[in-house]
Amino acid sequence: MEQDFPASPLGLYIHIPFCLRCCGYCSFFTLPFRNSALNEYVDYVEKEKALYHSQLNRPIATIYFGGGTPSLLNAEQIMRILSGLNILPDAEITLEINPLQITEKYLQALKTTPVNRLSIGLQSMNKEELNWLDRHHKPEQIQEKIALCRQFGYQNISLDLIYGLPNATLQTLQKTVEKYLKLNPEHISCYLLTLDEDCKLAKKNNSLPNEEMQAEQYEFLCNCLKQAGYIHYEISNFALPGFTAKHNLRYWHSDDYLSLGVSSTGWISPVRYQNPADLNLYYQSVDKGEAFPQKEELSGQRIVQDYLMMGLRLKEGIDLDCFQKHFKFKLTELYGEKISKLQKIGMLSLTEHNLALTEKALFVSNSVIGDLIL
Ligand code: SF4
Repeated sequence: MEQDFPASPLGLYIHIPFCLRCCGYCSFFTLPFRNSALNEYVDYVEKEKALYHSQLNRPIATIYFGGGTPSLLNAEQIMRILSGLNILPDAEITLEINPLQITEKYLQALKTTPVNRLSIGLQSMNKEELNWLDRHHKPEQIQEKIALCRQFGYQNISLDLIYGLPNATLQTLQKTVEKYLKLNPEHISCYLLTLDEDCKLAKKNNSLPNEEMQAEQYEFLCNCLKQAGYIHYEISNFALPGFTAKHNLRYWHSDDYLSLGVSSTGWISPVRYQNPADLNLYYQSVDKGEAFPQKEELSGQRIVQDYLMMGLRLKEGIDLDCFQKHFKFKLTELYGEKISKLQKIGMLSLTEHNLALTEKALFVSNSVIGDLIL
């Protein structure tokens, strides 16, 4: 693992698990925030970084601070994590930010770091929906907060939107979308609400839209955003021209990315690895100097399956020439029969150059991709 890596660019994900409070719909791995705990955590991320010195000699094209709530990091902590990295001059460096933390003071400090893209956990512009989600920002303050980000030079802003919320109708969704569009974000990520069994809100009696209504809401969102000039480039993601999320594209293209932090998962072909999803076990693993914990070296077939699973999320789908160059055989040699079946029922489209999901397959992508690769 540690030798002869080509100097191709690398992506870097850094997981910050701390949150100010636990949102009722959340089933991510999170921890309650304390300043001292976060400081200790940053020490460990730095130690962990040192374990990957040979990987981190590679030029870094994208960096993503995700969580949790990475905007709990102060500028000095961000700089500690980024110090010594070989970051390309045009690297995309994203920080997920809680709207509550968008203040003049925070942005002023953030401007001293190379972070150049903000992903704002907005989720909705509807007060009742935000209350239900346990999100405490105020929709009426968002315009001002985004103007502040612009004032500090952030010209690449992504907003999260959750659909499939209780009592949501196409009318309420339309209002939300209109409010989002007024904010002129460069990028919008739309996620369907999913409540895992163990999250707080799953225990409530929720009047969630059924699957048919969820699909209608998804189609509605896709149409509204396309009409507003956004390119629907991935199942859940929409961008103005030139603003696709470069870091996430690395996942969908199966490009290498290193991950640091508790519970994070990395991919340095052909190895997938995962840090322990337990803070003490993560600290122990770093103390032992364990690089690539829980690593799994994927077989040729698994790599092809993962490549298809990720690549088909993109609207452009799989580039057949790239596939052939990468794997030294044609995609249709292995999957021709299944592709034809899925083409016949209108779920896949195959051209001379690409294999892609059709529009009608997007909302049920998991089952279509499963039918293809399994
Ligand atoms: S939804 Fe986000 S902010 Fe809320 S608890 Fe989960 S990770 Fe933290």
